[in-house]
Amino acid sequence: MDKRTVVIVGITGSIGTQALEVIQKINGFQVIAGTYHSNQKLAEQIANKFKIDKMIRTSEGYDEIISQIEKLRPDITIVAIPGFASLPITLKAIENSNRVLLASKEALVCGGWLVKNALKNSSTELLPVDSEHSALMQLLEDGTEKILLTCSGGALRDWNIDGLHDAKPTDVLRHPVWNMGHKITVDSATMVNKGFEVLEAYELFNIDVSKIEVLLHKEGLIHAGVFLKDGTMKLHMGFPDMKVPIAYALTYPKRDYSKMEWPDLSLVNLSFYPVDAKRYPAFFLAYEIAKDYAKRTAYNAADEVAVESFLSGKIKFTDINKVIERVLEKIDGTPRDLSDLTQLDKLARRLALEVIECL
Ligand code: MG
Repeated sequence: MDKRTVVIVGITGSIGTQALEVIQKINGFQVIAGTYHSNQKLAEQIANKFKIDKMIRTSEGYDEIISQIEKLRPDITIVAIPGFASLPITLKAIENSNRVLLASKEALVCGGWLVKNALKNSSTELLPVDSEHSALMQLLEDGTEKILLTCSGGALRDWNIDGLHDAKPTDVLRHPVWNMGHKITVDSATMVNKGFEVLEAYELFNIDVSKIEVLLHKEGLIHAGVFLKDGTMKLHMGFPDMKVPIAYALTYPKRDYSKMEWPDLSLVNLSFYPVDAKRYPAFFLAYEIAKDYAKRTAYNAADEVAVESFLSGKIKFTDINKVIERVLEKIDGTPRDLSDLTQLDKLARRLALEVIECL
């Protein structure tokens, strides 16, 4: 049987390289193209090892990958780059692939309705590559009244709240549970990442945000849960390892990936705590803006600019919350298409830079 062809957008990143590890372990998939931002050395190693003809550098822009997706029409496109740029790529991938594995939350956060419209007009499947949403996909059934997303609380979860403003990038990048890219690791510490995930779940599963509960779960073993109307609760459990949801999305509805490691239940203590609004103010904003795509786009853009400024030492960790709050106050609008969203994204970035200048 012919192998299924795969294009990986963001092949040198955390999800991209883990997807390659999975593909190496299971049969039936051939990576035919990949994109990388700037890590040319790794891109060359990957191209040699996996015999990939097309490796596209995207630091200059995304036009080339968009036209390659149209030309190659892969069976599967894995979208695994951070940022707003993932939205147009996801839309193009839906048009031109049979299955899209979506690891970029921003596409749904900013353009959820555009992604869903594109899916309605095609037979393409979209599968989430996010541990919580992969778990939910496996748990959901008729009669689901409420869902649970868990979170780690990020690297600073045990810090005294008064000390947070002194946190350095090196402190924040030490994630207690998951090994991920820099942007998402900072987003875990502010819990903006979980805000994105609430919006992602709202879009993927058509469940109102008032029915999405988030609890802090330090052990990182329960990824999500559903509460059914007859009183049953189903929780999804397993070691935190992104290769598992990647493999599931690749091989769904089958499970071809073999890992054979499970938590030892006799040693496990599970704990759950409510999320502290003082410690994670930017997280709760996601609930307030859930129905407003202009503000959702601004939430993402302001966060991206603020995180970059924090990582380069320009602002303090706690300023990330301030930048997001102030930009959201200034943004208004009813975007109708991708071009409206692109304008809003640019505007929000400019406003974020202005706010940062005035801090
Ligand atoms: Mg997640």
